Amino acid sequence: MTEEIEVSDFVMMSDISEQSMLDLLKERFGKDKIYTLIRDVVVSVNPYKKIDIYSKRDIDRYKGKNIYELPPHIYTVADTAFLNLRDQEQDQCIIISGESGAGKTEASKLIMEYIAAVSGSSLEVDKVKSKLLESNPVLEAFGNAKTTRNDNSSRFGKYMDLQFDFLGNPIGGMITTYLLEKSRVVNPAKDERTFHIFYHLLGGADKSLLDKLHLTGNFEDYEYLKKSNCTTVTDLNDKTQFNSILKALDCIGFKKEEQDTLFNCIAAILHIGNLKYNKDENDDDKAVIENPELCGIISELLNVQTDDLISALTYRTVIDKNKNSDQKNIKVPLNLEKALSCQDTLAKTLYEKLFSWLVGCINNNIFHGKNDGTHKYVIGVLDIYGFEIFKTNGFEQFTINYCNEKLQQLFIELTLKSEQEEYNNEGIKWENIDYFNNQIICDLIESKTNSVIALLNEECIRPGVKSDMAFLEKLNNNVINHPHYDSREKTRSSKDIDINMFKIKHYAGDVIYTVDGFIEKNMDLLYNDISFVLNSSSNPSLREMFPQNIDNISMKIPETIGTQFKNSMGQLIKNLTSKNPHYIRCIKPNNNKQSGVFDDELCLHQCRYLGLLENVRVRRAGYCYRKEFSKFIERFKLLTPQTWPNWRGEPQEGIKIILKAAGFADDDYCIGKTKVFIKKPQMVFHLENMRNDK
Ligand code: ADP
Ligand code: MG
Repeated sequence: MTEEIEVSDFVMMSDISEQSMLDLLKERFGKDKIYTLIRDVVVSVNPYKKIDIYSKRDIDRYKGKNIYELPPHIYTVADTAFLNLRDQEQDQCIIISGESGAGKTEASKLIMEYIAAVSGSSLEVDKVKSKLLESNPVLEAFGNAKTTRNDNSSRFGKYMDLQFDFLGNPIGGMITTYLLEKSRVVNPAKDERTFHIFYHLLGGADKSLLDKLHLTGNFEDYEYLKKSNCTTVTDLNDKTQFNSILKALDCIGFKKEEQDTLFNCIAAILHIGNLKYNKDENDDDKAVIENPELCGIISELLNVQTDDLISALTYRTVIDKNKNSDQKNIKVPLNLEKALSCQDTLAKTLYEKLFSWLVGCINNNIFHGKNDGTHKYVIGVLDIYGFEIFKTNGFEQFTINYCNEKLQQLFIELTLKSEQEEYNNEGIKWENIDYFNNQIICDLIESKTNSVIALLNEECIRPGVKSDMAFLEKLNNNVINHPHYDSREKTRSSKDIDINMFKIKHYAGDVIYTVDGFIEKNMDLLYNDISFVLNSSSNPSLREMFPQNIDNISMKIPETIGTQFKNSMGQLIKNLTSKNPHYIRCIKPNNNKQSGVFDDELCLHQCRYLGLLENVRVRRAGYCYRKEFSKFIERFKLLTPQTWPNWRGEPQEGIKIILKAAGFADDDYCIGKTKVFIKKPQMVFHLENMRNDK
């Protein structure tokens, strides 16, 4: 009887092609085997249903096991990272990528739960663990929303460091977030919702809290929630959610006043959305608020003066430099259009600042900054938005896709390029494998000069009236010949690119961007008057959210969003590069959140742009294990009497003696200039087992 060997690692496939890769993925998915390996990379397909593989028993089973001893699992990655951290004393990072709805956030939570379960335990450590775990529901309430792709879609990027002491006990953490999609607060798309917390508060708070916040419990009473024609999500109970958020805030260590600030601001935003404006009876160019009594409520919630708030919402202070160069502030009324935009800006900015402040509070409670020598190593977990192509793509999609280009570049550096370079350096016979290097696209987006960001900034800081179309013209004048850039200007015939659009040929596919709103979103101007009012709040937390900095006072143009994002991407990449990386590549099996449905084309597309096939090719041609000569001998010298207790000859000779004694054939391994390489993982286990048996 021939026993069929189950292939759970793409590298072990008998024929390496896109089709066989897809077939294997599909076959396994059909049997609820949602995880498959490419050596140490885990490919995960979202099952869209509960699978019974995450119990305490499963965790125990995976604990401390080698990656090939058990079926592939997200736990294998978590376990490997944790063991590496503890035994090799090196910082680790786990990079989770994939489209919206592919399962990234669930994966990051499983990793945290696993690490919490297998790491040490004591009263102190357990307290830290619960704080770290409880940060998830809080962040999700404020940062996630229902979209058409995912009922619980993260609308921000998240990187979290888990800090450990030298024994591998968690002692703290630190969260960094990226670009919250704040436009959702005032403009959720049709059939989507704004951030969960608004509904949880309205649907979950008790009567006395609602009264205090001057809220009704009815979603339909609020303009910002009503707009999108969607207020509820199946399987999401606001009452339970709200209670667990309260519990989580307590557990993390939020003080009473801090919790009040959170809910006051959320309520204030709902009320801001209900402000009604009209033109002044006597002055068409002046807007007035029709329901000023609401301003009383908003100012009460934000602890500011009502008159100041009304003035900031309907006037703008400009500096008038007269001939004698005296500066005088004068108040100019806002017209209706400007006043409405000011209303939304206030709501969006308040939410954005509240979110950053919330993250800051969490960090204050979880970060282990004590210089007491306990803090040793970290595992960083990155859960960040995947590549996005929508019907219309704006500045948000541009930044998200830019981020994915950077992560792809990192993946290339860390897995494809560095692997091949190592073989070349070690003088090992090796045929280079072709892969597309997307550096050229990163350059198109972020170079110091003649890039999309540089040209956008140029238009933003130029004196005079700035326009999205002038920015597009700059692009067409400067990057028109770039092989990854396209526009109506360049290919006049192309029907899909309109005159206000440009196309970038991303590594993951072509995306056509509409320039409308690029300038405004890149400048992200908050009227100074608004920021002044909030800074005058008697609530210290609000003052902290709206610091009065030099930029506000001098009216200097602050750093653009594009530049800020570019800098934070640079930092992120530098940070990840300094750690030992692990990858989880998530795949969404269909666009309908359905279980049991595997859409071949959709999955193939994702495999392609995640670069999985190249990854398999490089790994298959390569060696799974490598060690410096001396370290290898030190570890395995006990296997032969010739090498024990000390080998005094040439290291290469010693290694050969050991491997021969362990039953290795000549082509099972390769000796380079400084390291020994072993091809198959099974042979490595074999060595380790022999060592354990001694
Ligand atoms: P992403 O963060 O990539 O946008 P999520 O992690 O939020 O996607 O996953 C979307 C939804 O898919 C989840 O809310 C959950 O219903 C389902 N899901 C994801 N991963 C799993 C899993 N391992 N098991 C069961 N359901 C899952
Ligand atoms: Mg997510």
